[in-house]
Amino acid sequence: MREKAATEPTGRRHLRAHGLTPSEPRLAILAWLAGHPIHPTIDQIFRALRPRHPTLSRTTVYNVLHAFVAHGLATVIRTEDGELRFDGRTDPHAHFKCTRCGALEDLGALPGDLPRQVALPQGFRADEASLVLWGLCPACAAADTTH
Ligand SMILES: [Zn+2]
Ligand SMILES: [Zn+2]
Repeated sequence: MREKAATEPTGRRHLRAHGLTPSEPRLAILAWLAGHPIHPTIDQIFRALRPRHPTLSRTTVYNVLHAFVAHGLATVIRTEDGELRFDGRTDPHAHFKCTRCGALEDLGALPGDLPRQVALPQGFRADEASLVLWGLCPACAAADTTH
């Protein structure tokens, strides 16, 4: 193992390994995403980090997240209402969205070649696939049966 890689903090190393220069907003957002696997929106991240990072703007959060997606550090889940939810987990996996409280949970892994397993008409090319199941999370389902 190289000396630099061993001594550099994980977040910095992770950013560099993905071709991004470590900056304070990038490090803060990367750490927050890793510690909060709730598939947050841009606004949720902004509101969570703003108290400790008073100079942070919504635009910066937006730009950092889009850079993460472009560099393979995060994925984005597009939900029905056009809302973007960000995920620090980048391996292909399915999601469950609660239609009542909006919680978005991780489900099992998906085959990496899923886009190629779907028979496409001639001329189409798929690059990405996503699987979101909809319904009630355990808390909302429990509340539902007590009515
Ligand atoms: Zn719920
Ligand atoms: Zn996820």
